[in-house]
Amino acid sequence: MKHWNEECAVVGVYGVENANYLAYYSLFAMQHRGQEASGMSVFDGEKILTHKAQGLVCEVFDENALSHCRGEIAIGHNRYATAGKSSSLDAQPLYARCALGEIAVVHNGNLSNAKALRERLTAQGSIFQTCVDTEVILHLIAKSTQKSFEECIKESVKELEGAYCLIFILHEKMIVLRDPYGLRPLSLGKIKNTQAEGYIVASESCAFDLVGAEFVRDIKAGEMLVFEKGKMTSTQLFEPKSFRCVFEHIYFARPDSQVFGKNVYLIRKAMGRELAKECQIDADVVVPVPDSGVPSALGYALQSGIPFELGIIRNHYVGRTFIESEQNIRELKVKLKLNPIKEIIEGKKVIVIDDSMVRGTTSYQIVKLLRNAGAKEVHLLISSPPTISPCFYGVDTPSKDELICAKYSLEEVRKYVCADSLHFLSLEGLAKSVGDRGYCQACFDERYIKDCFSDCEEVQ
Ligand code: AMP
Ligand code: SF4
Repeated sequence: MKHWNEECAVVGVYGVENANYLAYYSLFAMQHRGQEASGMSVFDGEKILTHKAQGLVCEVFDENALSHCRGEIAIGHNRYATAGKSSSLDAQPLYARCALGEIAVVHNGNLSNAKALRERLTAQGSIFQTCVDTEVILHLIAKSTQKSFEECIKESVKELEGAYCLIFILHEKMIVLRDPYGLRPLSLGKIKNTQAEGYIVASESCAFDLVGAEFVRDIKAGEMLVFEKGKMTSTQLFEPKSFRCVFEHIYFARPDSQVFGKNVYLIRKAMGRELAKECQIDADVVVPVPDSGVPSALGYALQSGIPFELGIIRNHYVGRTFIESEQNIRELKVKLKLNPIKEIIEGKKVIVIDDSMVRGTTSYQIVKLLRNAGAKEVHLLISSPPTISPCFYGVDTPSKDELICAKYSLEEVRKYVCADSLHFLSLEGLAKSVGDRGYCQACFDERYIKDCFSDCEEVQ
């Protein structure tokens, strides 16, 4: 069975003493984007050192590992479980030695033509060591006959389709690339300390806040940044096309991050307000599913005038105790995580708000928890449209037959989750909340970019 492959996190720090520590704290700040494995490569002035393993950032790095990886250029990665078995070999950064020297890379995204490229490279004699798409990029670079690393990278990325935010260390350089669609977020920040002025690049700006960096701007879709000899140069490699992942705003990103130039918390609150405009319900209390339903439930409560209460409490210490391979285990996991406050729920008409519905398991469990706590009515509201189609851009969404809204009508889903009523935010409401239309929302409307998906039969 497939798992969701939550977004990965990438970070690159350039030109500051102890870049390794800043990369480490940045990975901490972005732990929510991946908990399967973590790693870092550092250029220590002579060579690239890499440390990576399966586990949380705090499990992978100890003082010994961090002090061993000392340098002024560091790149890091947090990885989420992908479909199938995972191995520490698949942890990033990936490292290789090629004709031009040492190279290390981290990647957030999904190459939709990775399979075809891998087959071609294997037929040409390449030997792959991992199962991750990113290794294809290293092989393309190693095979390039261009004279400099930049030229090799430029030539190689022309072959890539899909989503990528890439950060390379190549000897004394750091090179950063974002795909032409800008699917995954990537921001640029500046670090000022007494010694020098350095740069930081990260999936989410919450990393900048933790390390005291100043947010400068988003890296543009199709842009390449080269950091060398203390300077940054920018080249627009591809014409930018806006197709940013709207799910970043709905679920993935931290509410305190600026993603695609917008604050995530405010967008989620706006989704709640739009939901309240679209759907008025006679109820006593608005309760969020913690944590990702909180801002939209607040927005709903403010717009509707119905009191907001934290009627469900989340246990943050459950961790990853078992593999979610069976449906009944997933159900147990919801119960381990969430518990209602009876005093808030009992005898009330409750509106409960979650950010999204995928398989419907969470919703079913939440409604059951609230009914067991004595709710008189339970109205389930979702602050995004029904998820009806898989993602081919790096989020390993379940296949269509596991997506409850792809298989059943709204009324059938309502019956399954046992809610008194069920409502989703409309696509129109979503567009109003995010403020413009340059977004991918293919998991809601099945409108993919054709040329990104030469491997995918399911794409129209
Ligand atoms: P489900 O129980 O399968 O319907 O999943 C819906 C729940 O999963 C919601 O509470 C979401 O907050 C959460 N969710 C949404 N997207 C993801 C994702 N990519 N990975 C993990 N959880 C997610
Ligand atoms: Fe994001 Fe959905 Fe588009 Fe995938 S299909 S990139 S999850 S909006």
